[in-house]
Amino acid sequence: MKRWEDFHFFYSDHFEVELEINHRFPMNKYQALRESLLQRGIVKKSQISPANKLETHHLHLAHTPDYIEQVLSLTLDRKKSRAVGLPLNKAMVDRALGSQGAFWQAVSSSLETGFSTSMAGGTHHAHADAGEGFCFFNDFAINVRRLHKDNAGYKILILDLDVHQGNGNSSILNQDKNVFIASYHGEKNYPFRKVPSHLDRGFLDGAGDEEYLKILCEDLKRFSQMGFDHIFYQAGVDALGGDSFGKLAMTHDGLKERDRMVFEFAKHQNIPLAMALGGGYSKNIDETVEAYVGTYEVARRTYL
Ligand SMILES: [Zn+2]
Repeated sequence: MKRWEDFHFFYSDHFEVELEINHRFPMNKYQALRESLLQRGIVKKSQISPANKLETHHLHLAHTPDYIEQVLSLTLDRKKSRAVGLPLNKAMVDRALGSQGAFWQAVSSSLETGFSTSMAGGTHHAHADAGEGFCFFNDFAINVRRLHKDNAGYKILILDLDVHQGNGNSSILNQDKNVFIASYHGEKNYPFRKVPSHLDRGFLDGAGDEEYLKILCEDLKRFSQMGFDHIFYQAGVDALGGDSFGKLAMTHDGLKERDRMVFEFAKHQNIPLAMALGGGYSKNIDETVEAYVGTYEVARRTYL
């Protein structure tokens, strides 16, 4: 396994999209994260690269031909489009493919170095034939299928610590072998119809650091006995108290401890880890960006 300065990270915010003012999705958080990481010297400019758009034939690994065609040709019907919650236009499709490309490249890079990230993505609500919850296509599902194409016995852990249950990951992958999906989320939060994962940890509203970290710690001990070859980490920070779309009450320190546990687990087991950013919707978006920066700080400290 290599060290921090050998790691590479992939961003997709160079595919610019404009949302209407007051749109509930904080699109500017991605660029803010990237700039903040550079400014604070947590990552060097040489470590980050703009992602390439995913070649669209790869979408077929996880999505139905009809759905792919409808999104790419901008003909998705109104109801399905509304479920995603983002406008469907050419710029948005480019951005979505850029985000998919970022995770694809992060997975490739993590195979070489042991650690990499997409500075976007974690699109765990996208199903095979429909998007929802700000997700058009499912980056984790596509890449699980892709790695299994070459090696069906390769054991992948999806560790989904976004506050919303990864219903799309589960709906696409729950019949696949050699992928284990663990989702930690608000039980009473969206998606209101959960699709069972292999391990679902549903927390009640207001759950905080202590309860969350205790359960995660116990589970990681169990995972360490399961012989995983790769970890896909959805590192959403919307479990932070005060998040507009979260109902838990974690603190910045609690999230950092969460990340420390995950990265230490991967490092000590020598398991490559590919991370995607996941959700974060604090009313003051600086709070969300600060939490994302915290994740990178902890990763740097762990892998230095
Ligand atoms: Zn979320």
